[in-house]
Amino acid sequence: MAKFKEILSLNKVNKCYGDLQALENISFSVGKGEIVALIGNNGSGKTTTIRSICHLLKYDTGNIHFDGQEVTEPGPYLKKIGVVLEGSRNCHWRLNPIQNAKYFAGLKGYNNSKIKQRIQYFIEILGLNKYQNMEVGKLSTGNRQKTALLCSLIFEPKLTLLDEPTLGLDIETTEALKNAILKQVANEGTSLLITSHNMDFIDKICDRVIVIEQGKIVFNDTLEKLKNRLYKYELNIVESKQTYEHLQTQLKGYEADLSLDFNCRDATTSIKFNDTNIALSALSYLHNKNIHIQELSMHTCSMEKAYVELLRDNKL
Ligand code: ATP
Repeated sequence: MAKFKEILSLNKVNKCYGDLQALENISFSVGKGEIVALIGNNGSGKTTTIRSICHLLKYDTGNIHFDGQEVTEPGPYLKKIGVVLEGSRNCHWRLNPIQNAKYFAGLKGYNNSKIKQRIQYFIEILGLNKYQNMEVGKLSTGNRQKTALLCSLIFEPKLTLLDEPTLGLDIETTEALKNAILKQVANEGTSLLITSHNMDFIDKICDRVIVIEQGKIVFNDTLEKLKNRLYKYELNIVESKQTYEHLQTQLKGYEADLSLDFNCRDATTSIKFNDTNIALSALSYLHNKNIHIQELSMHTCSMEKAYVELLRDNKL
């Protein structure tokens, strides 16, 4: 985490809607050139966080710093960040995608040939060519979302906030968006804070993941750390139920560090480990007992599974 210098930081931000505490002491930062995912179940507080950062709503206490300065009013600060709100609400529906892009570029003070080239570049990337002259209000949900993305990506923001960017996008465009974001980060060193329920998208582009649950941050670290919370190694053994029961006794004491499953369908036992030493001692135990090991694999846990398990652990 320390490899990135901070561009955005939130310090103990609280927000209540009446009696409901939507955000409770939210503190995190986003580094320069870093892509951070903010994930959480419906109603966990992601949009409230994004809207607080944009000053679209007033949070109750806490503070937000951008590039070393406390953000006290939205005006000048908003010129330096790109924002796509959930459901492409930030586009003018009576304007076409190009007019929208020009309008927003103008608001941020861009009105030159470079911006025209960038509009064309992103129109191409997002596959909006056919729709560039149609009113946004008459476009499909996915193409409206693409227009919202176009408006936030065309200039060179220091920070881009994307609230559900892949909502309604087809697979091809999601892939193109992913590549465009990675290219923009590599070429321009921009930072991104992305909320999404699309774990595959997050898995492919983010450096770090922040998990928010009922207005509180319950995880803030690399994707690797989130996935490796569960297990790294998996041993598959073809043996009888007795072996499974035998292993259960043998591996007692390690319960906290491994998971042992018997799959009735193909009579295999799988042992999942996170700790290399435990994996090695189990291997040697099995070898000494002449138990046939069908497969030994380095297991990469999916983002979905890692996330669901994290939430389950937090509810215990
Ligand atoms: P989703 O994934 O469904 O978009 P979210 O994580 O973005 O959810 P928020 O929209 O930030 O969640 O909502 C957080 C909580 O605040 C929810 O309980 C929601 O019902 C509540 N909430 C959000 N906006 C308002 C509002 N304007 N008035 C009252 N309550 C609100």
